[in-house]
Amino acid sequence: MEILEKAPAKLNFSLDTPFRHADGNHEWQMVMIAIDLADYVQVRTIPTSKQITVLTDSGFLPCDRRNLAYQAALKLQQDYQVDQGVEIIIKKNIPVAAGMGGGSSDAAAVLRALNQAWNLKLSKAKLAQIGLEIDSDVPFCVYSEPALVTGKGELINPLGDFPSLWIIVAKPKASVSTPTILKQIDYSNLAHLDVTGLVSALKEQDYAQITAKMGNVLEPITSKKHPDILRIKTKMLKFGADAAQMSGSGPTVFGITQKYSRAQHIYNSLRGFCDEVYLVRPLSATSKKEGS
Ligand code: ATP
Repeated sequence: MEILEKAPAKLNFSLDTPFRHADGNHEWQMVMIAIDLADYVQVRTIPTSKQITVLTDSGFLPCDRRNLAYQAALKLQQDYQVDQGVEIIIKKNIPVAAGMGGGSSDAAAVLRALNQAWNLKLSKAKLAQIGLEIDSDVPFCVYSEPALVTGKGELINPLGDFPSLWIIVAKPKASVSTPTILKQIDYSNLAHLDVTGLVSALKEQDYAQITAKMGNVLEPITSKKHPDILRIKTKMLKFGADAAQMSGSGPTVFGITQKYSRAQHIYNSLRGFCDEVYLVRPLSATSKKEGS
């Protein structure tokens, strides 16, 4: 059986961490959305062998056990004693090591596809639980709809439809290692965010409050080593974005506006400074259901 899954990128409208768990994992408070920039993940089951193979069009991504899509297939195969192999072909469109959850989304796409192809009948909540063992962003990516994400990444509280926005995404040249950034978090010195306030503003569709409550506590850490982040952010605001910030552990920066003409102006202006710029929309809960 062959299944093609779309694996959308994610952005953090809010990223905070109240504390670190005793096991070293972080407790998260994040408002996350999926956007219409996506990898394509083709999954073909192989009844005659138990081998897992991953192919990508990226020149540098590992295709062995280090690939999160490989790990997702292996986990399902082992946990549910499946006697089949799988070939996974990934068309990468999401920038790698960018704070946009590309690897996690590919892994989530494999979980969804193999759940169907192997007729495992697992709920999304179960797939999210399995996904947490691969990466803290995988549970969100199993759903890929606007959500408040808490716990170690496994508690997904859907937020319903997201306001109609245009998002300009700019990826500076640098690649960032998430574990390296997370190690530098100094809990005694974090300026925490009003994540609950952002959730209320989203529910009330109060755009002014949404822009006021957005934020990312990792931005000062990553931008110390990558000052391009702050330069791009300043330019986005200067060109007319109502808010701009880093996503995940960076270095991708995104800005928002409600006006398409302004979004186009920001997009065109930034293309002179940054090689990778995208003009995207949030995937709302409704648009996903209509499209599925
Ligand atoms: P995070 O979700 O931790 O914030 P990220 O979005 O910043 O990560 P990814 O593009 O997911 O970045 O890549 C992070 C690391 O995962 C890279 O070092 C990359 O080599 C590895 N990786 C493994 N599998 C994949 C995959 N399928 N796509 C992209 N990166 C992958």
